[in-house]
Amino acid sequence: MTDGRNFLDWLEQAQPPRPGFRRTRRPSQIPNVLSIGALRVVYQPIVDLRRSRIYAYEALVRSDSPHFQGPPALFNEAIRSQVCGALGRVVRELATSSCPDYPLFLNVHPNEFDEGWLVQPDDPIFSHDHPVYLEITESVPLSHFALCHSVLREIRSKGVSLAVDDLGAGYSNLKYIVDLQPEVVKLDRGLVAQAHLDERMQVLLRHIVRLCEELGARVVAEGIETREELEVVRAAGVHYGQGYFLARPTFPPPGISA
Ligand code: C2E
Ligand code: MG
Ligand code: MG
Repeated sequence: MTDGRNFLDWLEQAQPPRPGFRRTRRPSQIPNVLSIGALRVVYQPIVDLRRSRIYAYEALVRSDSPHFQGPPALFNEAIRSQVCGALGRVVRELATSSCPDYPLFLNVHPNEFDEGWLVQPDDPIFSHDHPVYLEITESVPLSHFALCHSVLREIRSKGVSLAVDDLGAGYSNLKYIVDLQPEVVKLDRGLVAQAHLDERMQVLLRHIVRLCEELGARVVAEGIETREELEVVRAAGVHYGQGYFLARPTFPPPGISA
């Protein structure tokens, strides 16, 4: 567990990223010292639906600070304080250390790509004993990632994989899959919710799954809340699933209930 105080201590002694990236502020330069609070991670299983087995866990950050409703607000605060990359690094340390025995899916904020922390050689993603997938959300314009291609190339050359998160939300830019060639695509709950009641959604789901697989990406359906939604994604050919019906995010990493 890393609390707000420890995060700042950590930042004070951390080796900053190599030159060529945007600078991370020193704690003494941060006004109103971060009210980030105590940080921890919870884990939600990503289930292999054909084998009914846990394939991996997604790590999701939590803060005990009353100032933040959820992880996006926490990262917005870190961006304001210019420590987004450092926060991401701490989350990766927490996430990898408490779940050493499984593949991990780790969310990366788009702003982290121009801060250099991700390509620090001692980042724990490079020494995890199982596959690591970095999730990037498609709810930012693809043009941002044009700036990050060299970082992505470097990370991937060291064996870390890429997952496009939230496909079907935000910009719904299918070109992401062509351009970034992710190993995994995660379908947003917007494509899954109530799909069993809507035949046209089922057609869409089936074809998106096929499209992703033909482009070389495995598919995870997110936000499965009911047995009916689980059956409908299975019928559409989705290989992996995640959602409250299977397991809620908790610590320690939970088993599955369905
Ligand atoms: P996400 O990566 O798409 O994560 C899935 C979100 O859906 C999580 O919310 C999870 O708790 C929630 N969820 C899981 N199953 C269900 C379900 O069956 N139904 C519904 N309605 N929701 C479900 P959470 O943890 O609040 O995270 C929200 C977003 O914050 C994440 O969306 C991700 O974009 C971001 N985030 C979370 N942790 C981190 C982190 O460590 N780093 C970064 N950069 N972003 C993070
Ligand atoms: Mg995610
Ligand atoms: Mg998502």
